[in-house]
Amino acid sequence: MTVKSVYSRRGLMLVISSPSGAGKTTLTRRLLAEDDEIVMSVSATTREARPGEEHGKDYFFVSHERFKEMIEGDELLEHAVVFENRYGTPRGPVMDALGQGRDVIFDIDWQGAQQLDSSTRAIDLVRIFILPPSVKALEDRLKKRGQDTEETIRKRMAQAEAEISHWAEYDYVLVNDDLDETFESLRNIIRAERLHRERRPGLSEFVRNLQAERQ
Ligand code: ADP
Ligand code: 5GP
Repeated sequence: MTVKSVYSRRGLMLVISSPSGAGKTTLTRRLLAEDDEIVMSVSATTREARPGEEHGKDYFFVSHERFKEMIEGDELLEHAVVFENRYGTPRGPVMDALGQGRDVIFDIDWQGAQQLDSSTRAIDLVRIFILPPSVKALEDRLKKRGQDTEETIRKRMAQAEAEISHWAEYDYVLVNDDLDETFESLRNIIRAERLHRERRPGLSEFVRNLQAERQ
């Protein structure tokens, strides 16, 4: 038994949801850049790619036919309709990453979080909800991001209320006012969750050995 095995752990499934514009993409990109134990789950979607988005990196952009095929072939861990488009989480890459003891981060909405909650062992799942500091700040961020038309921004603002109403279904809720502070809180959540007793398969043997040393 090496001391190292005490640090072996099961991968976490980190679900991050928020109303569009609250900052989850910014926060997850920063996490991924800093921490090579975390991988992003790349969703499949039927929506059009936005300028700058890459197939296979931001999303797998697929046709409605292909999406239907993925559902029928049980290739998706969860799927939902969001803003009139279909989105879903491909199962294979997630299972591979978790099997390698890596954490997987999911940028999915409350419908996806609910589905993962009923299909996944509770101990594997950590659900984090990001709130904007105000409705005005949310709208300003959507405008500042400059990726959506006025009509899309109006729809996203209308949808924000519905998304926010699910806040109590999450384990942690962060108000993303100051980005650095929110990021630090997110890091702290992950640090603590990685140390959770039930996620550390090497721990009981390590303790047994500690106890044996005294005899
Ligand atoms: P989401 O992924 O939740 O839709 P984004 O991460 O794309 O949101 O953020 C929307 C916009 O708000 C981006 O332009 C981003 O740079 C900006 N932003 C994110 N967090 C903050 C923050 N704490 N303060 C100010 N602007 C922020
Ligand atoms: P966007 O079109 O801005 O990239 O994403 C719109 C919304 O769809 C966001 O709230 C995002 O979290 C959600 N979403 C993205 N991928 C998935 C997915 O695979 N499943 C579910 N349920 N929601 C997703």
